[in-house]
Amino acid sequence: MRRVAGAFDDLLAANRLYAETFELGGFDGVAHAGVAVVTCMDSRIDPLRMLGLQPGDAKIFRNPGGRITRAAMEALVLGVHLLGVERILVVPHTRCAMAMYTENEIRRKVSESAGQDASWQSFGVIGNQLGMLAEDVRAVRAHPLIPVTVAVGGFLYEVDTGLLQQKC
Ligand SMILES: [Zn+2]
Repeated sequence: MRRVAGAFDDLLAANRLYAETFELGGFDGVAHAGVAVVTCMDSRIDPLRMLGLQPGDAKIFRNPGGRITRAAMEALVLGVHLLGVERILVVPHTRCAMAMYTENEIRRKVSESAGQDASWQSFGVIGNQLGMLAEDVRAVRAHPLIPVTVAVGGFLYEVDTGLLQQKC
């Protein structure tokens, strides 16, 4: 089941079309707008377009909930020091599953889907979304390797309107 024949055919065909008109070759990896975004993996979020940015403009780090995890922090430190990041947006969103269910509810749903116990798997569920956002933004601002010259903001993305609201 891990390697199903043809499972990616449509995507590879689309990629060949994409490569035919590819214009991003020779690009460097710097964030040209000086922007880094940490946001949720949710498919309703288009991190570049929602900020009026283009490929090449920003570093994007995504995970369930848009949390400042250890890996997210690593990405931000790299972004700031090696890739031109000067502004950091932390962007959770409305109707996020990670903020709507408890850890036990998520585990139960996954257990049902998997047909086996998932109680050992952690999911980093968010209890108080805005409180957690404030804490995450504080952690980025307080990180010893994030200079005070870097602007760090916490925003809530409304998946039903496309609007971003700064919360902290
Ligand atoms: Zn989400």
